[in-house]
Amino acid sequence: MAKTIIIKIGSSTLTTTHGTLDHANLHRIVAEAARLVKARHKVVIVTSGAIVTGAQALGLKAKPQSIPQKQAAAAIGQSRLMRQYEKAFEEHGITVAQVLLTRDALADRRRHQNARNCLHTLLDEKVVPIINENDTVAVDEIRIGDNDTLAALTARLVGADLLIILSDVDGFFMKDKQGVPFLVPEVKKIDRAIKKAAGQAVSDQGTGGMLTKIQAAQICSRAGITMAIAGGRKPGVITAIAGGKKFGTLFRPKA
Ligand code: GLU
Repeated sequence: MAKTIIIKIGSSTLTTTHGTLDHANLHRIVAEAARLVKARHKVVIVTSGAIVTGAQALGLKAKPQSIPQKQAAAAIGQSRLMRQYEKAFEEHGITVAQVLLTRDALADRRRHQNARNCLHTLLDEKVVPIINENDTVAVDEIRIGDNDTLAALTARLVGADLLIILSDVDGFFMKDKQGVPFLVPEVKKIDRAIKKAAGQAVSDQGTGGMLTKIQAAQICSRAGITMAIAGGRKPGVITAIAGGKKFGTLFRPKA
């Protein structure tokens, strides 16, 4: 059965150890997404990496810190990032569309409906929408702030079946009594123990860490959407999860 699948790609998944855009991994992910489109699924990409790409273009050594610096880097990086997605999907004969969102666009009823209609029109045309936050105009009150939440809100907006969050971690980990971390293959209920374990994990490239992923899982759960967290560098990751195979951590929605 054809599904609507959102794939969220974090900055760390798109960045090499030298802090540059990881073209090889982007192409590999796009090839897997293209396979889903060919199998008649509707695919939406929510991507980070605009700031990292812009910082690289400016020759900055460290990640920009102030809001105007981040916005400037995003303005430079976003078009470069889009160009890479456009080129990569073109190799598979697939057209992409850039969609930039902010919290106010999703909160206001009319704008929310406009965004939903636009996304559905694109998906009906077999176009892959590539979504990011509109960092250039996003000040605190209208910022979503991290793309895990943006991906979950997008999944809810389009009534998706599945959200796959690709990250630098292989899934959601908890610690056993000896303090040894183990991968949790499936989460049926997001309770206090899950939230506590999530509070302890962080990543250096992205803005979210595990806490925002668990918040995204909560949004999905309430909306009846299955969510997965998996390693964004594992070949076959998207194909496996979309095919219902166990990979990373799966968050089951509320019945
Ligand atoms: N919108 C930011 C970017 O594209 C990233 C936000 C995030 O990493 O969650 O660089």
